[in-house]
Amino acid sequence: MMNTVVTYEEWRQISESFSHQDQTKGASSVLSWAFSTYSEDEIVYSASFGAESIVLIDLIQQIRPDARIVFLDTGLHFPQTYEVIDKVEARYPQLRIERKQPALSLNDQAIQYGDALWRSNPNQCCHLRKVLPLQEVLSSSLAWISGLRRDQSPSRAATEFVNRDEKFRNIKICPLIYWTWEDVWAYIREKQLPYNELHDRQYPSIGCFPCTSPVSTDGDTRDGRWAGLTKTECGLHTR
Ligand code: SF4
Repeated sequence: MMNTVVTYEEWRQISESFSHQDQTKGASSVLSWAFSTYSEDEIVYSASFGAESIVLIDLIQQIRPDARIVFLDTGLHFPQTYEVIDKVEARYPQLRIERKQPALSLNDQAIQYGDALWRSNPNQCCHLRKVLPLQEVLSSSLAWISGLRRDQSPSRAATEFVNRDEKFRNIKICPLIYWTWEDVWAYIREKQLPYNELHDRQYPSIGCFPCTSPVSTDGDTRDGRWAGLTKTECGLHTR
């Protein structure tokens, strides 16, 4: 129960105590610390099943083969995303992978808020279909793991290994902050991990299908999310 007694400064010191000069750029050390600090019911990985996620799942299962992993199943994901989840479940049968659905079905959402809320009010749509479900998951945990990398976007550049997360009143652990996009793919290829085939079709970052487009430039890896809008995050990683 260390969350309640450790200050911001102490969390920062914990974060800075991990070296990132090793083979996994600190990720394995951070995960070992996380799973020895928090019991199996106190820590959960919220996985998107994108490229970073596949790497993190492989690293996690080396430390905790039966780790709890939650996928926020908005009901609006690409078929290829569900396919890769099936492949991961087959490869790592001990992992406890849960598909967390929102309280509102898509039909009820349309009745209450109108059709295609992702177009009329994407922030509200993300709140209903992602933020509230994660809030429910994290209400019974102390820490959550995320695959954020610092070079994904300017909004993620200051992420630490261990972060106090006021929004969800949890500790957010981000083992991949020093990984580059090239590191992620080198690991996937070396280990021959399953991955979402949309990555081979110009989709670096994959979310719900109404809000994800292929990219054709060398911009940041999240350029295809909410294209044409100023929105860059679904609300899970913003205050
Ligand atoms: S990413 Fe788009 S479709 Fe998915 S929850 Fe957010 S606004 Fe809705």
